[in-house]
Amino acid sequence: MHFRPKRQNHSGVPPSRLNHSRVLDTLVKNLEGMAYRCLHDAGWTMVFVSDGCHELCGYASSEILGKTGVSWEEITHPEDRRRVRDCIEDAMRSGRRFAVQYRIVSKSGQIKWVVERGVAIRDEQGEAALEGFIEDITARRATLEALEAAELRYRNIFEHASEGIFQSTRDGRYLAANPALARLYGYDSPQALMADLADIERLLYVLPDRRVDFLTLIERDGEVLNFESEVYRRDGSRIWISENAHAVLGTKGEFICYEGTVQDISERKRTEAHLQLMAMVFSNSNEAIMVTDAGNRIIAVNPAFRRLTGYLPDEVMGKDPRILSAGITSPEVFSDMWASLDRHGSWQGELWDRRKSGEAYPKWLSISLVRDADGQIRNHIGSFIDISELKATQERIRHLAHHDTLTNLANRFSLHEKLGQAIAFCKRNHMQLALMLIDLDRFKTINDTLGHQAGDELLIQVAQRLSAAVRESDIVARLGGDEFVVALPGIGSPADAAHLADKITREISAPYLINGQELRTSPSIGICVYPGDGTEIGDLLKNADVAMYHAKAKGRGNYQFFTEEMNIATTERMNLESDLRLAIARGEFLLYYQPQLDLRSGTIVGVEALIRWQHPTRGLVSPADFIPIAEDSGMISAIGDWVLEEACRQLKAWQTRGITHIRMSINLSTGQFLDKTLPARIHELLASNGLSASLLDLEVTESMSMASPDESISVMKTLSSSGLTLSIDDFGTGYSSLAYLKLLPIHTLKIDRSFVKDIESDPNDADICDVTVLLAHKLGLEVVAEGVETEAQLKFLLSIGCEKIQGYLISKPLPADQAERFIRNNPPMNDLGTIDLWSSPEQSPSIEENCPA
Ligand code: C2E
Ligand code: CA
Ligand code: CA
Repeated sequence: MHFRPKRQNHSGVPPSRLNHSRVLDTLVKNLEGMAYRCLHDAGWTMVFVSDGCHELCGYASSEILGKTGVSWEEITHPEDRRRVRDCIEDAMRSGRRFAVQYRIVSKSGQIKWVVERGVAIRDEQGEAALEGFIEDITARRATLEALEAAELRYRNIFEHASEGIFQSTRDGRYLAANPALARLYGYDSPQALMADLADIERLLYVLPDRRVDFLTLIERDGEVLNFESEVYRRDGSRIWISENAHAVLGTKGEFICYEGTVQDISERKRTEAHLQLMAMVFSNSNEAIMVTDAGNRIIAVNPAFRRLTGYLPDEVMGKDPRILSAGITSPEVFSDMWASLDRHGSWQGELWDRRKSGEAYPKWLSISLVRDADGQIRNHIGSFIDISELKATQERIRHLAHHDTLTNLANRFSLHEKLGQAIAFCKRNHMQLALMLIDLDRFKTINDTLGHQAGDELLIQVAQRLSAAVRESDIVARLGGDEFVVALPGIGSPADAAHLADKITREISAPYLINGQELRTSPSIGICVYPGDGTEIGDLLKNADVAMYHAKAKGRGNYQFFTEEMNIATTERMNLESDLRLAIARGEFLLYYQPQLDLRSGTIVGVEALIRWQHPTRGLVSPADFIPIAEDSGMISAIGDWVLEEACRQLKAWQTRGITHIRMSINLSTGQFLDKTLPARIHELLASNGLSASLLDLEVTESMSMASPDESISVMKTLSSSGLTLSIDDFGTGYSSLAYLKLLPIHTLKIDRSFVKDIESDPNDADICDVTVLLAHKLGLEVVAEGVETEAQLKFLLSIGCEKIQGYLISKPLPADQAERFIRNNPPMNDLGTIDLWSSPEQSPSIEENCPA
């Protein structure tokens, strides 16, 4: 068929007219009957075309043969002409075979694909011709193109898939792997992956055996199965993958390879794990959690919700959370809640809900909004806890902060608060306020001897009595220890406070029953008044304290008002206390002895040892002034011991000088009395001085012995068992229980001076003396009247049968030498009638005028 462009000079086979040479004839003969064959000469004139060629291009052979026919060049598709010509010319020149695919346009305009394979040939003259075999490949080419396209598509999928794709052998090698697979396992290319992984299972899978089982399974079942597993990447990190794989089988069912896809599902696994965790948090949370939808209908609740509210999930699903409400939360709370949700997307606060059981409870609720990407509300998440216990605890803490735990009275903190309010009230209304500071007498002793528990119980009962004694509007507080405060706002005059102080003294001094024992104490009360004594709380408390010390100094169980002089007295007391500490070492103490007269015999039968303090600047200080200080500051035991020692020494001295009938009375302080070592100490002193115990008398005050009578009984029994006697001092001033009095192993009652004093003028006091003597005799006790100053008193005492007296009428307390003289001047006698001693006081030897009485 082919031709070269007419203008082009041909170098290989020179163009020449193609004759019907012999060669050509032979060839034509050979070609006859063969489809799509043609022969053209060097001048591209078609010399022969087979029948098939007609079929191919739609032209009859006559139409294309010879110089006049349609040239093949025209039949060739214009776009392919140049390519075909180049190919033909090359073949002519080189003599090589050629094959070229190109399109032709048939007579009817149909485009067909052909392949022409040909060779240049020469006749005898060396004329070149071309023999071409043209084949219609239109159909084949379409298939091929489709195939190619398909192949390309698959390759594209394979190359560009985001999933890993593989084919592998049974012994764990990759036959094919795509770039995604390589990437997935951390390799640069599929080649690198395939080169590196000679044993897929062992090198890749965290649990290789599971993968082997999986492969066995897909081969057996012959279907695509899915398998999730954890694998190592090239860098050693682990990822989770999901594989879909199947076994590829040949036509006879023989195994060819495994084929499958692999996906990295680590993210999904992480999300799953996270979700699982979230679900666990949701179910295991101790907080009740409730999720609602955009319309605020409940869509999920957790187990804690059920525990807390009592509702089963089914009972609340789809409902508005309002069904939980107790209906007592104020509407403001809700409007605040919605406003905050709107503004900040969250809210926290306290609400009151009702459990299914109907019980209302406070809860602490936190709500957050969940919005979708468009900002639309998707959910509300509410979590809450029951805070009823918390609130109770808070209330308790508040109470504790304001109250004294032991007595439940207001504590110091809350006293300040209440006092502040009360003072402000009084200020506005131009009123007065009385502030009382109350301290329990001998509390420390009770606490020390009977134990803290008894002490605590005593404080509790005192608190109860105090609360009962005052009005509702009064303030009662405990400052700590045994210190209480009572404040009376709005009093008319200080006398009101005095009345209450009287009442409190009576109430507090009444016996207590603690652990089956009867105990006693008394209050020392210091009172100051707002605004006269101060306008600030601190000042008022300080001044009440000063007054209270004053009360203590006055002998306890009484009340005192604060005055400026009291401030001075307090300073005084401080000085005295520091001097007192040095008094023993400096030998400033001495004993005076006050004679006791036996009215039956008219004889001086004994003396009471009374301590004096020879102060370097103050002169003689009365024990009434320093004994309370000594007791409060813990110095009393040393002083008491000194007294015992000195009294025994003196007694012995007198004995050696012939005065053998005198008994010695010694005053005991509370601390001494309750000191367990006292009996041994006395025994030791008696023994070392060679004295008989029967010469000793110990005086214990009534209030001391009655503070804890059981304790007193046992101490007294021990003391008296050695042969000494015991007296109850100041009898009548305390609150003796007759029942106990009977049990005490005592010998004498000493009628207090205060009763003797007004014996003539006050019938009441006279009665007390009378009754005391009667009582004493009934109990088999003797009576000593103290403070007898007048003959009238003496006569009265004689008339009621009092056995002994002591007082200025006989003698003031005297220094040892004078006391000795006094005793010698009044020797023991048998006939009372001959004694006229007390008819003229001037007969008394000179008495120490300095001695305070
Ligand atoms: P008391 O045991 O009641 O002692 C009697 C007090 O009355 C003594 O005061 C004494 O001087 C005084 N007195 C005696 N006769 C008369 C009188 O006719 N008229 C007046 N107005 N007073 C009279 P004193 O010596 O000042 O002692 C006061 C208190 O001090 C004593 O009261 C006693 O409780 C305590 N006391 C004295 N010495 C000691 C001691 O050695 N140890 C202890 N623990 N206390 C002592
Ligand atoms: Ca006494
Ligand atoms: Ca007394």
